[in-house]
Amino acid sequence: MTQAPSSGPSARISARDIERLLPQTQCRQCGFDGCAQYAAAVAEGRAPINRCAPGGRRGIERLSRALGIPALPLDPEYGRELPFCTARIRAQDCIGCALCAAACPVEVVSGVPRHLYAVIEEQCTGCGLCACACPVNAVDMVEAGRSWSDEDARCARERYQLALRRRERRRAERLRAVRHDAATRADILAAVLRKAQGAGS
Ligand code: SF4
Ligand code: SF4
Repeated sequence: MTQAPSSGPSARISARDIERLLPQTQCRQCGFDGCAQYAAAVAEGRAPINRCAPGGRRGIERLSRALGIPALPLDPEYGRELPFCTARIRAQDCIGCALCAAACPVEVVSGVPRHLYAVIEEQCTGCGLCACACPVNAVDMVEAGRSWSDEDARCARERYQLALRRRERRRAERLRAVRHDAATRADILAAVLRKAQGAGS
């Protein structure tokens, strides 16, 4: 059952500090767009502290201590605490559509379009977003045989921040290209109109 947000954190702690207590898998299981957005909601008392399945019981206890509020059991509506798994693409089934790479929040999937994609498993956060995005079910989530550590979370956060900056740069480049194309088309159209007007006079 969904736990209603409490009256809010009793200790003063910033969203940024709360975010650093989260596992940084960016999996969105909490119902927010990522760890930063969930952290902001917790800091503002809009969400309870028990929605992060990858963080599990340990994560909830950390949040409880930091915020000075009681720990709650993990809300099962937002997932279960499971062994840490990483993604693996079955080469024989991959069609190279690149949807997995587009979905990966830390950009650790790469490959050759229309051929084959693969995951750098040591850097995978286990968020499972690639598996959800794959139209042919070619991604397996495989038990990694280890736990997700604080150091993993720190590295994942850095990769995520880098990926955000790269995506923003690519978006700006695409926008520039679209504007350039539009300006070129407008120039051509103006030239055609001028020519047509000249021929008609
Ligand atoms: S790791 Fe936790 S806080 Fe981060 S997006 Fe996933 S569920 Fe939300
Ligand atoms: S490879 Fe898949 S499971 Fe791993 S971080 Fe990227 S999207 Fe998440």
